[in-house]
Amino acid sequence: MVRPEELKYDERGLLPCIVQDAATGEVLTLAWQSREALEQTLGSGSATFWSRSRKQIWVKGATSGNTQAVRSLRADCDHDAVLVRVTPAGPACHTGARSCFFEAVEGAPDSPEAPGETLARLESVLRDRRAHPPSGSYTAKLYADENLRHKKIGEEATELVMASLRGDTDAVASEAADVLYHLLVLLQPHGLSLQDVTAKLREREGKRRG
Ligand SMILES: [Zn+2]
Repeated sequence: MVRPEELKYDERGLLPCIVQDAATGEVLTLAWQSREALEQTLGSGSATFWSRSRKQIWVKGATSGNTQAVRSLRADCDHDAVLVRVTPAGPACHTGARSCFFEAVEGAPDSPEAPGETLARLESVLRDRRAHPPSGSYTAKLYADENLRHKKIGEEATELVMASLRGDTDAVASEAADVLYHLLVLLQPHGLSLQDVTAKLREREGKRRG
C-alpha cells in the first residue's frame, strides 16, 4: 500500500494515469492526475483527472454522462504512474469510440484484442438484449424461452463433439463459439456473469496437478 502523498508527481505535479475497463481489461485512455484529482477520485469513486489543455480538474463524464466508476486504483513499482480500473457508463473517447486507442500506427504489428475482451463485450451486448429485447433477435428469443436455452446448449455441445470427431478444425472453432455464446446466454437469467465463472477457475489455480 502506498499513500497518495507518497506518489511521485512529475515537475508539473502530475501522474500519468492508465484507465482500464475492469470487466474486459481493455485499456481505455491515458489521462493525467494531479494529487487533488487523485484524492477527489478516491473520495467520489468517480474517475477525475487534470486537463493539461484547460489546466483544471475535470470529472470524466461530467458533461457527456460517460462517467467511470472506479473499481481499483494502483500505483506502479516506481510510484510514478497509476492504473485505474473502471466500469464505464459509456465510451471513454470524445470521438465516441469505446477506447481512445483505436488507431494502429503504420508499420507496427496489430494483433487482435485478448479473448477475454471479446467475451466480456459479448456479455454486455447480451445483457442489453435481455433488458431491451429487439424484435426478431435470436438472443431475445432465447431469453424468452428457458426450454430453448437448455435445448440449444445441449445441441451445440453435441455439434462440437461431432466436429471434433471429424477432425474439422474450422468447424471445431465455430461450434466452440456457438457453445460459448449459448453459455453466456444461459448464465444471465441465473444472475451469473463471466466473473462468477472465472472466480471458480481462480479458486482452482494452484490446486491442479498439472
Ligand atoms: Zn479519446
